[in-house]
Amino acid sequence: VNAGAPLAWQNATILRIERQTPRILSFFLRAPLARHEAGQHVDVRLTADDGYQAQRSYSIASAPGAPELELAVERLDDGEVSPYFHEIARLGDQFEVRGPIGGHFIWRDEDGGPLLLVGGGSGLVPLMAIARHRASVAPDLPTLLIASARTWDDFLYRDEWLAMSDRMPEFAVRVTTTREPHRRPGDLDRRLDQMALREILGEWGRLPRHVYVCGSTPFVEAVATHLTHERIPPRQIRTERYGGAV
Ligand SMILES: Cc1cc2nc3c(=O)[nH]c(=O)nc-3n(C[C@H](O)[C@H](O)[C@H](O)COP(=O)(O)OP(=O)(O)OC[C@H]3O[C@@H](n4cnc5c(N)ncnc54)[C@H](O)[C@@H]3O)c2cc1C
Repeated sequence: VNAGAPLAWQNATILRIERQTPRILSFFLRAPLARHEAGQHVDVRLTADDGYQAQRSYSIASAPGAPELELAVERLDDGEVSPYFHEIARLGDQFEVRGPIGGHFIWRDEDGGPLLLVGGGSGLVPLMAIARHRASVAPDLPTLLIASARTWDDFLYRDEWLAMSDRMPEFAVRVTTTREPHRRPGDLDRRLDQMALREILGEWGRLPRHVYVCGSTPFVEAVATHLTHERIPPRQIRTERYGGAV
């Protein structure tokens, strides 16, 4: 690899499309990218017939070394790029990607744990890459996922998270649904405020060594602030902000 050179745009081809939730689709791509680390993202560039281009970032959901690159895109009704994925993109279509990108929001085997993963909405995407990687390289590493979703059906990768927690005793999952009563005993149905996080962390009973918080900008700012009030040093908290008004 030519260190320091800008990453080149590459063609990605859509091999498969899977609905994950009412608002989120997964795209499985063939793309000639270098192996990524869990937590990284790619840039996507769309070009219209008249040459107009739009570019956005999308986290990689697939584990390092997976044969297909998985992106999961949430539909924003007033958006420019995400509606393309939901309304126009078809099997075999191509668009440009470059990456993998990002050196901060990554987890490697040698980083160890305990791990605390906190995601809101589509912010669960890079956390799933980390969890899939952890499942293959460190299945006994104490890990807690705290997921915030509007409803139970909006909980991205719900069945896969729950299966991981059934299969791996050290993998715990707590869910909060912000627009619907909770479904499982111990889950919550309100925003992740200070008390909610205190309660969840207290029950987990571990001190996280690495914390990953991802989601809309207001979600990430709020959760990261609450976590520092729970005596988690800021340097142990990595954040990825997806945008949206603060
Ligand atoms: C590093 C990184 C990784 C990302 N990974 C993913 C991912 O895995 N999946 C995914 O779906 N998105 C992800 N995003 C967000 C993505 O890049 C786009 O911002 C998103 O798809 C909206 O683009 P759009 O063109 O449809 O909307 P735009 O036309 O850009 O925006 C439409 C409106 O929605 C608002 N908005 C933009 N983003 C959000 C948001 N997150 N929440 C609430 N309002 C918002 C804008 O302020 C604007 O008002 C990521 C962003 C970053 C920076």
